[in-house]
Amino acid sequence: MDVTPILDRLNDAQREAVTAPPEPALVIAGAGSGKTRVLVHRAAWLIDVEGVSPQSLLAVTFTNKAAAEMRSRIEALLKMPVQHLWIGTFHGLAHRMLRRHWREAGLPQNFQIIDSDDQLRLIKRLLKNLEIDDSRWVPKEIQWFINGQKDEGLRPSHIDDDGDPNRRQLIAFYRAYEEICQRGGLVDFAELLLRAHEVLRDNAELLEHYRGRFKHLLVDEFQDTNAIQYAWLRLLAGDKGVPFAVGDDDQSIYRWRGARVEHIHRFQKDFPGTRVVKLEQNYRSTATILNAANAVIANNQARMGKNLWTDGAVGELIKVYSAYNERDEADFIIGRLRDWIAQGNARADSAILYRSNAQSRVLEEGLINARIPYRVYGGLRFFERAEIKDALAYLRLTSNRDDDSSFERVVNRPTRGIGARTVDMMRSYARANACSMWRAAGAIASDELNGRAANALKAFMTLIERMARETNGLELHDKVDHVIHLSTLVAFFEKDKGEKGETRIENLAELVSAAKSFEPDPAEEMSALDEFLSHAALEAGEGQADAWEDCVQLMTMHSAKGLEFPLVFMCGMEDGLFPHQRSVSDANGLEEERRLCYVGITRAMQCLYVTYAEQRRLHGMDNFSQPSRFIAEIPNKHIEEIRPRVQVARPLRPTTPTQKRTATGRAGSEIGVRLGQRVRHNKFGEGVILNAEGQGAHARVEVNFEVAGTKWLVLSYANLDLM
Ligand code: ATP
Ligand code: MG
Repeated sequence: MDVTPILDRLNDAQREAVTAPPEPALVIAGAGSGKTRVLVHRAAWLIDVEGVSPQSLLAVTFTNKAAAEMRSRIEALLKMPVQHLWIGTFHGLAHRMLRRHWREAGLPQNFQIIDSDDQLRLIKRLLKNLEIDDSRWVPKEIQWFINGQKDEGLRPSHIDDDGDPNRRQLIAFYRAYEEICQRGGLVDFAELLLRAHEVLRDNAELLEHYRGRFKHLLVDEFQDTNAIQYAWLRLLAGDKGVPFAVGDDDQSIYRWRGARVEHIHRFQKDFPGTRVVKLEQNYRSTATILNAANAVIANNQARMGKNLWTDGAVGELIKVYSAYNERDEADFIIGRLRDWIAQGNARADSAILYRSNAQSRVLEEGLINARIPYRVYGGLRFFERAEIKDALAYLRLTSNRDDDSSFERVVNRPTRGIGARTVDMMRSYARANACSMWRAAGAIASDELNGRAANALKAFMTLIERMARETNGLELHDKVDHVIHLSTLVAFFEKDKGEKGETRIENLAELVSAAKSFEPDPAEEMSALDEFLSHAALEAGEGQADAWEDCVQLMTMHSAKGLEFPLVFMCGMEDGLFPHQRSVSDANGLEEERRLCYVGITRAMQCLYVTYAEQRRLHGMDNFSQPSRFIAEIPNKHIEEIRPRVQVARPLRPTTPTQKRTATGRAGSEIGVRLGQRVRHNKFGEGVILNAEGQGAHARVEVNFEVAGTKWLVLSYANLDLM
């Protein structure tokens, strides 16, 4: 056997991990050191050299995109397709298992996955049903509670209320929510994991089967597994399985979602004799970028600590740009992107990373104006767009009439004269008779409703039955096409004049193409439609339909994990935004934000821009902030400040501490004036700085005062207040 291609371009430590004997192993290493690469090569090695059947491998990645990439990389190494290889996210794999074993899992065969929007809607409806005041009980908090319990593997009966009436109520909500889901055959994301764990735990035969099958369990991004994911892995591994996990404690960024970096230690206890391999050479980034990242993360106390180095080029300095506001920031980024594209680089090799999703809007506007194609990961997700969810809801109803969340979504969309009162009646009937909305609709349409409402409801039910009948036996995309046609959604959105309606109609057409290019797995026992619907639910949040186009990549720092780009912009680097306001007062929270910053910096291969705005309008509010403390943690020698600024010896007097700004964001003693800055003068009132020149005692600024007009003032005399 010629093993060279598989071991090619691996360093000694990587090779040790790839070729390790079949015993538990843990690869702990910093960003860009080749962990994912090791995992891929390990899979190829096992199959090709050790003769392990692809069937006995289970590989867990962090995103569906990463899973697809891993599959194709393994195929490229082996030069053959690998079907029957279980590779995917925890959610994807759990889903696969539940589809196979729905009976054992206590689910209907056509169970539907609901995303977090659907889940929230169900919870709101639940509160309404229980006639609970939703000002006292915030639906989002209930959702948070339920998912948090599920992530820990807990059912309502496992949770103690500790004599706390609040908690008792939350547990009651959880129980009621479970009943609704069970009745409708609805499974939320956290439930996928919990059920997949329970189905193995409670079915000795099944567990034995899978333990016999999956000998090798490969896990990427191990630092971000939560309790139920870890429990599932551990159960599958048993005593004989060979878990092989790679991760980086410095990149644990999902603690808020239940991830526990402690699993790295737990693993070594649970699997005695674990081989621990450290990788220390970084192959991704320039020395400048890597050293900056190392310096930032060194400020964290809770670390295993590691030494990451590179023998690559020093590279360019990290460019820090201080923008006047969020628009200036977007303009700057777009300008740089233009240059980058003009130099012949691929757009897809650049990424704009931000802390919070809402930041993407201004960037998107700018990119649209500049006609630069872009794609948002995790923002406006294709499968989460309203019109797509409408069409999917119709499709779901054709497959499962008891899907209440779909029923409520489209019963009056397009409007067909089924009002809130009718819906309320159905809800109470459903509640009183512990049945689905569909059944309730059937019952009240014949008994309780007056003529017009009854007819409207009957027409809706006839429509769904017709959709199911007429699409029976059609190819998946014809099914989708026909259901959209019968739904009259297109005519409905045509009334919505302007670009928005048009986009929605285009998206519906895109859904048909998505169905066309969808390849159902012949090994799955469910219908192509159910598989497509599950795919839609799982895929939402990752990429968009037009994935083939060369686009600039926009995403949150969280979703950038595991990825790399030659050019990276980290924007919105302001205290309060990043680190996020919520976490600055809490040491653990701050350390998690710092790890996120480390993840962000280490996505960059060649060129990194860090930008912040002095003034930012976000969620409709104007904020003035300091540059992120993380910028100050990057040693000066790695930084080049972009905006030419006038430095003055005599500081201006800041009016309040929150408005205090410094010229560099680091050197506190030196306070600079920025063009565009608002100031107040005793005599002339308020104005904006237009221009500045000179140094020290001679520094002068030109200010455009609102009332007094434009004036040149000597700074050391003018006594300007910053605003
Ligand atoms: P992260 O922590 O961000 O997930 P990682 O440790 O998984 O990073 P990889 O993505 O596997 O790192 O590798 C980073 C980059 O370095 C990739 O482009 C990879 O191809 C390259 N690389 C890794 N090892 C080597 C090697 N031995 N020789 C050449 N290139 C390598
Ligand atoms: Mg990786």
